[in-house]
Amino acid sequence: MSPGGGFCKEAVEPGIVSSASDLLPTSNAYLRSSTNREASPASGGNLRSRSNHDVHELLECPVCVDLKHDTIYQCPNGHTDTPCSKLKARVHIYCPTCGHELGNMRCLALEKVAESLELPCRYQIYGCHATFAYYSDLKHEKHCKYRPYNCPYAGADCSVIGDIPFLVMHLKNDHKVDMHDGSSFTHRYVKSSPLEVGNATWMLTMLNCFGRHFCLHFEAFHLGMAPVYMTFLRFMGDEDEAKQFSYTLEVGGNGRKLIWQGIPRSIRDSHKKVRDNQDGLIIQRSLALFFSGGNRQELRLKVAGLIWKEQ
Ligand SMILES: [Zn+2]
Ligand SMILES: [Zn+2]
Ligand SMILES: [Zn+2]
Ligand SMILES: [Zn+2]
Repeated sequence: MSPGGGFCKEAVEPGIVSSASDLLPTSNAYLRSSTNREASPASGGNLRSRSNHDVHELLECPVCVDLKHDTIYQCPNGHTDTPCSKLKARVHIYCPTCGHELGNMRCLALEKVAESLELPCRYQIYGCHATFAYYSDLKHEKHCKYRPYNCPYAGADCSVIGDIPFLVMHLKNDHKVDMHDGSSFTHRYVKSSPLEVGNATWMLTMLNCFGRHFCLHFEAFHLGMAPVYMTFLRFMGDEDEAKQFSYTLEVGGNGRKLIWQGIPRSIRDSHKKVRDNQDGLIIQRSLALFFSGGNRQELRLKVAGLIWKEQ
């Protein structure tokens, strides 16, 4: 049978096709998780290592390529390499081996085998040592502190994930971000014809101090009807650690000054979320142009900042 050629004959009716396309994020998740697993160093005698490859394959949904976490079905001919119950609930499923329509026959033997298994956290390759009973809920993995971070670069739609040292290298090498060492910094943002730009994201600056990394963002957007600029800091790490730091940002000109003091947000929160929370220094465009001096045809802002660690 050709790959993907049988078990999801969702083309039965258009309504079902659209529900199948809803599943795309799941397959992205699969790409990530399967990459993680393939990249996994030899990880002892657990289910996600090669030594148990066969059991693993039996318990893996061939579509989502994630483990089947509840009812496991077999086809009327006894094949167990069937898609997961989540998928079965959404689209019409045919057996990938014999093409027979998948009924409602459970495979109790396989469910029993699964029940007896212990799984390591899927973020084991990132350093997590937690293990779980197969049928335990997956709450841990949702909040596992070793789970990889999304690339914090805001300008491009970047799907790279990884731990912090990896992302620091990625930002330097692939996004060519500026790197600044030290806890105080000054950064200039210049833009000609600022009145034409409603939404923009400037190049990220990475700040390196206290042995940690921070991302300095600068964006233009509309707050309601008002065009504004916003600058804020995100911490490359988890929230509990981000809270140990504080920072100030100030911007001014013509004898006036705006100062913001805040706590950096973890990069677990997207730059958009931080922006929507208005958790940073917001500068009305008219004020920003006033700060810029000149004839208001060019944005010229100098953002000065300081990061410190709370004792
Ligand atoms: Zn599935
Ligand atoms: Zn079959
Ligand atoms: Zn974990
Ligand atoms: Zn990236």
